[in-house]
Amino acid sequence: METVKAFRKEVAKITRALWYTDEEACVFCGRENGPICPACTTDYLHPELGRCKGCGKLIAITKLRCLDCEAGKGPKQLDQVTAWGHYSGGVREFVQNVKFNAHPREVMKIARPFSDWAIRQLPAADGIVAVPMHATRLAERGYNQAEVISSALHWELGLSILPGVERIEPTASQVPLSRQERLHNLQGAFVVRQPEYLEGRSVWLVDDVTTTGATLEAVAEVLRSSGVRSIFGLCLAAGLEKKLVPSQI
Ligand SMILES: [Zn+2]
Ligand SMILES: [Zn+2]
Repeated sequence: METVKAFRKEVAKITRALWYTDEEACVFCGRENGPICPACTTDYLHPELGRCKGCGKLIAITKLRCLDCEAGKGPKQLDQVTAWGHYSGGVREFVQNVKFNAHPREVMKIARPFSDWAIRQLPAADGIVAVPMHATRLAERGYNQAEVISSALHWELGLSILPGVERIEPTASQVPLSRQERLHNLQGAFVVRQPEYLEGRSVWLVDDVTTTGATLEAVAEVLRSSGVRSIFGLCLAAGLEKKLVPSQI
């Protein structure tokens, strides 16, 4: 009898560990008070900062655009871009875990807070377009993280996911490249196959991370030429304005 009791207790402990501890853990630091603890909200989501309307970068709340966009070096085809958090530390680990360690379901843990935030930042749209992934890359990874994020938004907000855009050029890593080089690399990378889904619509264009805005811009370009009315870029994370003095962050 005692053995059965001990066994049950052990099973209950394992079940709790599997179901509850994980749910309560912060997705960015692994400590308590999930899905996002107050410390990570402060460190990564920066509610005190604004977002550059042009590229989504985190900037001083008093500004509308970052220095790059003010200098005309930002995306031009989007009506607005916004990003939830700063791409650093726990946020970077989270995104990389989703992308490279086959953990797309992690995104569901942040579905609610991310969607709640997004709907307050952007005008409502007719649907969502996920930045597409090339078929070869998709076959390697098994999923497109931008689609996974779009599914979370669809689930929480009821926005439809609009098909129609494809990536036809497998672009190599853009990380070491300048914005100009990235734009050049992305020329002809995307194509709209079914404009009937997109014409006259307003869309949220969703990706995991934006740095220079080059990828969003390249997709936005083909969306515009297919008659999309308004394009609002939405990403999980973006960079932080370099000139932001430490007291402002
Ligand atoms: Zn945390
Ligand atoms: Zn900007």
